Amino acid sequence: MSQSDIETLRTQPVAVFDHLIDGQSVPASDGQRMTVISPLDGRPLTSCARGTIADADAAITAARRAFDDGRWSGLAPAARKKVLLKWADLIEAQALDLAVLGVRENGTEIGMALKAEPLSAAATLRYYAEAIDKLPGEIAPTDPAFLGLVHREPVGVVAAIVPWNFPLMIGAWKFAPALAAGCTMVLKPAETASLTLLRVAQLAVEAGMPPGVFNVVTGAGSVVGARLAESMDVDVLVFTGSGATGRRLLEAAARSNLKRVYLELGGKSPNIIFADAPDLDEAAKVSAQGIFRNSGQVCIAGSRILVERSIHAAFVEKLAAQAAEIRVGDPLDSQTQAGAVNSERQLRQNLEFVAEARAAGRTVIGGARLREETGGYYMAPAIIADAQPDDRVFRDEVFGPVVTVTAFDTEAEAVALANDTTFGLAAAVWTSNLSRAHRMVRKIRAGLVHVNTYGGSDLTVPLGGVKQSGNGHDKSLHAFDKYLDLKTAWVKL
Ligand code: ADP
Repeated sequence: MSQSDIETLRTQPVAVFDHLIDGQSVPASDGQRMTVISPLDGRPLTSCARGTIADADAAITAARRAFDDGRWSGLAPAARKKVLLKWADLIEAQALDLAVLGVRENGTEIGMALKAEPLSAAATLRYYAEAIDKLPGEIAPTDPAFLGLVHREPVGVVAAIVPWNFPLMIGAWKFAPALAAGCTMVLKPAETASLTLLRVAQLAVEAGMPPGVFNVVTGAGSVVGARLAESMDVDVLVFTGSGATGRRLLEAAARSNLKRVYLELGGKSPNIIFADAPDLDEAAKVSAQGIFRNSGQVCIAGSRILVERSIHAAFVEKLAAQAAEIRVGDPLDSQTQAGAVNSERQLRQNLEFVAEARAAGRTVIGGARLREETGGYYMAPAIIADAQPDDRVFRDEVFGPVVTVTAFDTEAEAVALANDTTFGLAAAVWTSNLSRAHRMVRKIRAGLVHVNTYGGSDLTVPLGGVKQSGNGHDKSLHAFDKYLDLKTAWVKL
């Protein structure tokens, strides 16, 4: 990734984008378009189709037809694998173009975007493509007068509704296992991160994916997303986004065909630093990265630091020093470590949390709006150094570069504070005491508990929440559970 390559791509005109339905690029049924605003400068970047109910229905119909006639589900797994591997190669070959396009649309710093978006999507496709012809069914250990066979069958039409923070990575966590399993799909990107998913869907066609197997419909969540959720023809709905939307999706599933709904709904993840952490400087550095990368727009961000009282002051000082070193700026500068906040709305919400903490008399370090003259949405990392459990910023997900720090005295108090949340996505414990580390892993209610690190878990392990952070898992072979049904054949011999 050279800066001059990025500079060439930065100014390239961006085409206008339409839906990808049944292998074709098609505009909205009523011709309406959505303007895509770049968070880098607050200016229009391009436009894409503003999807209608009819568009969602057309995509669902195409996916249903493609599933039912077996053009994809009926192939040998190895044949699907071939297409998916080719698709991964095409994505990888265009990785920098895709990354720059994505950054211009959603503001993530380019270094992270390149790795976490196209390259991660290609790796995810390869992982599930390689796995799918290595998952045998079962022969049950039953009475020899009978034969019990357990088949794994694709569940059918899957709808995916994905967010704007990592559209390709999170999108691929869903479409790669679903398509490898033989399902067909309709994917709805977030309003502020549609372009790279549309590009990648076009590459699927180039790779030989039959029409109708993978469809992308852009537009408002309340129109296209809602239609997918209430459809009688969608078998499984997978979602990453807010709890409020997650609730709506469950209600829509209950009102329609009882489709299975798998939700990933963010978190308020505790990052617990004991005085016996192996290296406090490392803990401060990694904790800063764990909340401030991608401007805090990471579902598993360690947004609630809990620190043993004896090291509270020392830790806050180290964390503030790390935060001050984070280079916030132009996301297309490869030296930048935190780019633009995704939208004006998100920036406003972040700044409100900081202002509220300051008004409540909390010690606030950083948190100012930056680079306003660019017209873009930039913000300095914010540390609320003495947050209390009743503070809104301690309880609600900010989804921005805002971290709270709260002191505790005992291990039991650390556990109580960590679990004092409706969320349960991720957590971390920093300690040199092996027994304490494992005790904490057991006691913290979260789907992912880091020990002496934060972030960076790879594809080989599952990611999913407990409590109101959701259900079901992305990543790892367990992701197939959402897309493959078990069917029993019970045969009298
Ligand atoms: P955020 O507040 O982080 O944008 P949302 O839950 O609103 O989180 O958005 C995540 C995804 O859900 C986006 O693709 C968005 O368009 C979609 N969405 C929003 N509202 C609805 C809805 N009522 N029904 C279905 N999808 C929705």
